[in-house]
Amino acid sequence: MSAVIRTYKYYDINEVKAHLLIVGQLTADCANCKAIGIDYLAQKACPECKSEFKYIATRQNEGKFPSHLLKKLQENQPNLELIDYSDFKLASDRSQAHSFFKN
Ligand SMILES: [Zn+2]
Repeated sequence: MSAVIRTYKYYDINEVKAHLLIVGQLTADCANCKAIGIDYLAQKACPECKSEFKYIATRQNEGKFPSHLLKKLQENQPNLELIDYSDFKLASDRSQAHSFFKN
């Protein structure tokens, strides 16, 4: 039997952003270059900036675990790591605020 177990670890936020797909309603966006309309079940890299995708997050079902997405990903894109969008957003906003105050 298999079951979902959520994991926690530290990530380099710039590394995640450079290789992240963000799923919207039907397609996904590249977090690196903001390209839109990406088929997240088929594309291994961004058609615009050529960045290889390693991570995926979803804006859908905010705050709830996206089990439907995880099932589709495990069948079609097993190498992508599903990360929590709100965790990414919070860390990304903090990182931007940090670099703003440093300059
Ligand atoms: Zn891109």
